[in-house]
Formats: sequence, C-alpha cells, structure tokens
Amino acid sequence: MLTHLECTRCGEHYPADRPQSVCPKDAGILYARYDLDAIKRTFSSARLAGRAPTMWRYDAVLPDADPVSLGEGFTPMLPSREYSSVFIKDEGLNPTGSFKARGLSAAVTMARHFGLKKLAIPSAGNAAGALAAYSAAAGIEAHIFMPKDVPMANRIECDYYGAHVTLVDGLISDCAKKVAALKDSEVWKNDGWFDVSTTKEPYRVEGKKTMGYEVAEQLGWRMPQGIIYPTGGGVGLLGMWKAFEEMEALGWIGPERPKMITVQSAGCAPIVKAFEEGKSSSEMWTNATTLASGLRVPKPYGDYLILDILKNSNGTAIAATDEEIVEATRHWAKTEGIFAAPEGAASLVAYRKLLVSGFFKPEDTVVLFNTGTGLKYLDVLDASVARAPTPAKPEARHIGGIIGPY
Ligand SMILES: [Zn+2]
Repeated sequence: MLTHLECTRCGEHYPADRPQSVCPKDAGILYARYDLDAIKRTFSSARLAGRAPTMWRYDAVLPDADPVSLGEGFTPMLPSREYSSVFIKDEGLNPTGSFKARGLSAAVTMARHFGLKKLAIPSAGNAAGALAAYSAAAGIEAHIFMPKDVPMANRIECDYYGAHVTLVDGLISDCAKKVAALKDSEVWKNDGWFDVSTTKEPYRVEGKKTMGYEVAEQLGWRMPQGIIYPTGGGVGLLGMWKAFEEMEALGWIGPERPKMITVQSAGCAPIVKAFEEGKSSSEMWTNATTLASGLRVPKPYGDYLILDILKNSNGTAIAATDEEIVEATRHWAKTEGIFAAPEGAASLVAYRKLLVSGFFKPEDTVVLFNTGTGLKYLDVLDASVARAPTPAKPEARHIGGIIGPY
C-alpha cells in the first residue's frame, strides 16, 4: 500500500521502490505515503486485536517488506503512581533498551529489502546500539560514528554486535560530517553503502510513528491532551504526528490532537530557543553539553517539521537542567519503579513545570515518554551523583507532641 515518497518541503513525489535519502531539490525530509483509502477499505483498527505485541502489528500502514524484528514496540503504557492523569510510555523495554529500536528495525528492514550492504550512522549513543543489533540480525555491516564520550554501554554493545565503530572527538554533528565525507568517496557508490542518519532516510520515521498508533490504541483510541517528548533529532515527534494524520484518514481517530511538547536539556536546547523566538527553523547550538547524550543534538535536521508540529498542536518547548534531570531520574525510580534514561526523566521535569504554569491541569491526560532504560547510563549517572542535589536528611518534626525523626 506504500505508493510513493513525498518531500515535506516542496511536495515533490519520488518512487518508493529504491533507496532514497532526502529530496534532491531542496534536501527536504521524505515521508512515505500510502494509499490510505484502500487501507481503510480493507483494514480496521478492530482487526489489531490478537496481533503480535510488536510494532509490526501495524504492518497495514508500514512498507510491505519482510521485517527484521527483535520484538520491538508495543511497550507498556504505565499509569503514573504519582499523578492520576499521567501515563508513562516506557520505551526502555524495547530491544537494545531504547525507542531507537523502532526506527532502526524499519530502516534495516528496508535496507535489506533493497539489498544494501553497509549502513553508516552518526549517533549520540542509543541509535548506534540499535543499528548494530538490527544489522547483526539482518546480516548487514553497521558502520558507526559516535562521540568518544558516549555512555559506555553504547560503545560496548556495538562492539559485541560486531559493528565497525569510529569514535569521534566531537559531537554528533561532527560524526555526521565524517559520514558526509565518506559519501563523497568511490567506495560509497560501489560497495552498497547507505546513510541511515536520523531523517535522512524515510523509514526511521515509519518505525517511530508506531508510537503514535500505540498511544491511540492503548488509550482506547482516545487522544491524550498532551504528549511530552524528549527531543534530540525529533524523529518520534514527527512520526507520531504523521501517525495521527494517517489514523484520522483511516477513520481510527477524529480531528482531535494532543498538545505536543518538546523537552530538551538546558545545555543543548536549539528547539526551545527557536520556539520561544517564533522561528521556523533552529540555529546550531554552540558548546552543547548535557549528560543526557540523546539530547545533545545541536541542530536537528527535522527542526522545521518539529517547530511546525509544536505550533500546530498548541504545544510548547521546555528546557530542563542536568541537575533537574538527575533529580527526576532518581524521583521516577523511587516513586514509579522506573529506572529511566536521563532523556526520559526530562519529561517529568517538563510536566512539573507545565503543571505549575497552568499549561496542563491536573486532570488533563498527559503521556510522558521514557525513551530508554537508565541501565544504559550507569557510568553517566554514577559520575553525576556528585552533581545531584543531596537528598534531604530527615528533619526532626513534631508528631503529636513527640519530637523525633521520621
Ligand atoms: Zn523537496
């Protein structure tokens, strides 16, 4: 049912029967388009019941190729124990421990479908691990360019999955430059190489969009009032918004939409800055520093689409400091039993701020995305213990005339 690819800038159509990266005319991101009318006639949301609990349960709205699957997707939608209207979508339970599994399962599926041999990726960490795992499962070579200070788990998992790893002294943007340089070489053309950078190929968005389908299905086909999404490259935000449009065309939901909220680290907040300044694209963030490595993206390629979605959904963009993020990581672990990635815990920081400001009312249904498991950040979180606020010591207080600690 995949009919073509469409440029998100100029609207030009491209064939979907061969590997494509970005629009040759204006470098716009290409979206996969389907014959939704035909899907609507032959498939309904009721037919999802009883299907395998992976993202491939939505294969009616995914490219028709033999999936490279490790069981990704259909992660739990956990009701918060602290806030009665909040749900935590726990992406830490995906293969390789993060939401990146979805996009890379779809991208590697299509790479194998097209007979590609070597996949290159610049990654801040978790995407590298996911590409390495899915490439191993598909029998394809993964070539990974990651900053040398990525969390230890990402480096080690890539090694064990048999990926070719290049550690770069710089940020993900410097890694992307390495991949770009490689693209100009002769071997690139001759040896079946392909760049699976965030939003520079059309299918990672397709994998990530399944988060939007799951939010709707798991909430009984009702939209929440808000979705808080830790935004590095922003593929999931793009994907979920695309999913909502598709679901409306399929008649699975109505025209209602959640407010889409981007949360970034105060040490790297290009989208927050651009949103506050009312701009339609972001500027390169200089000297990006944050322990939430997945948010250390100085200029997301899909910034124009992210900013559009924030505006059209009446959403907003919030920054969280590393101190707030570490405190929230600890708080979620103690309160909810969820050991989140720091990026994920940033959602809690944003939610608290939006409650205080009145942006959300306590009764608004809000979905907070935990994008990965904290287990992949043990070295990062351990090193940051010193910087985290010390838990308050029990203070003496009066209880019924008795003075004592509690
Ligand atoms: Zn274009």
